Amino acid sequence: MSTTEEIAEMYGQYVMPTYAPEVAFVKGKGTKVWDADGKVYLDFVAGISVLNVGYSHPTVVGAIQDQAAELVHVSNLYYCENQAKLAKQLSDLSIKGKCFFSNSGAEANEGMIKLARLWGHEQGKYEIICMKNSFHGRTLATAAATGQEKVQKGFEPMPEGFVHADYNDIESVKALVNEKTVAIMLEAIQGEGGIIPADEQFMKDVRALCDEKDLLMLCDEVQCGLGRSGEWFGFQAYGVEPDAFSVAKALGSGYPIGAVVSGSKLADVFQPGNHASTFGGTPLACAAALATLEVMESEKLVERAKEKGDLFREGLSAFIDTYEHVTGVRGRGMMLGLELDQEAKPLVTALAEVGLLTIATAGNVVRFLPPLTVKDDELEEALDILDDCLAEMHGVVEEVEVAEVEEPEAAEVVEEVEAPEAAAEETPEESDVVA
Ligand SMILES: *Cc1c(COP(=O)(O)O)cnc(C)c1O
Repeated sequence: MSTTEEIAEMYGQYVMPTYAPEVAFVKGKGTKVWDADGKVYLDFVAGISVLNVGYSHPTVVGAIQDQAAELVHVSNLYYCENQAKLAKQLSDLSIKGKCFFSNSGAEANEGMIKLARLWGHEQGKYEIICMKNSFHGRTLATAAATGQEKVQKGFEPMPEGFVHADYNDIESVKALVNEKTVAIMLEAIQGEGGIIPADEQFMKDVRALCDEKDLLMLCDEVQCGLGRSGEWFGFQAYGVEPDAFSVAKALGSGYPIGAVVSGSKLADVFQPGNHASTFGGTPLACAAALATLEVMESEKLVERAKEKGDLFREGLSAFIDTYEHVTGVRGRGMMLGLELDQEAKPLVTALAEVGLLTIATAGNVVRFLPPLTVKDDELEEALDILDDCLAEMHGVVEEVEVAEVEEPEAAEVVEEVEAPEAAAEETPEESDVVA
């Protein structure tokens, strides 16, 4: 197997530098990942909310292996039983309509945008009111829907038909409604925007405005959906139902799959020939998703996200009093952000060095998206590591103590380096009995 350095060298030569990776992971189990040099990390990024059931969950691994041996792909020209079953489950769990399957979040949002346009077509309605600071994907239409200039810059002209209101400001939304408006699209919790939940009144007002003006309410649940927020879907915390929503990231536990889920109003708008996807909802992708939903139900991960997320949030909130550069904690469930009064990158880098993976967002926010299966002692360990790194950042630890802080870390790494297989064998039983 190649070293990190060798892999980086090949990247430099052959992979377009759209990302700037520094570490290569070779194995994952539960909340832990091992890099190519044998170092172990606690992963509180989890693929940016992809690994909600943790790495290599035996139920998901088994379902993928069995289905791969049986039938990987059939064209959507033919029935696929797994697709029907998955559509039923997503529908039953949410807004009781129909699904269209895609391969990614952007493609799900693209489908949702097309669905809204087709619905409004005869009335000449096509414009979608999106939110500033939102994120909806990297295709041209979803980049146009995204309310961040950095996502659009250099790719102009952007497709038309998207305008942007201030999130959590219903008056700014109302000001944009006109005879061309077809929908309002938003995240219940802005993820890339910095872990910003919608205000309860705002979500209710958006729903009411849509009802009043005959507009569609569209939710992007790609990051906050599927248990992450402590509800199956983020909008459910507000007692409102969108007319359609998109999911992707966590749906297949890393096997690519996304979906547009509609309520009854939009269930039969797409007709044969309107929209399609070669790989959308294959037997294998749907098997991975069905197994993921099965794990979420059997291990009660939605409830767990709420319960353990509240505990973790409490731990994070304590840092506000202890450390002056920590200015806030936000988010819900296991989708949490620690707000700093400065750039978050240096802290994220320091945390990774001592074995805790997090991700910076919106400049000054450290984002935490651990697997929903994360164990109690792993949450505690993460808080300990954070405490150490925050102390170091604030210069409150004397040099001697810093050295001591690093030592057990190094020892743990060495211990795990030699036995990733052994560690892997322990974990399945543990993850079956998540409390
Ligand atoms: C990640 C993300 C997307 C894009 O998903 P891809 O699978 O990367 O295309 C869209 N919306 C939100 C809210 C996201 O977090």
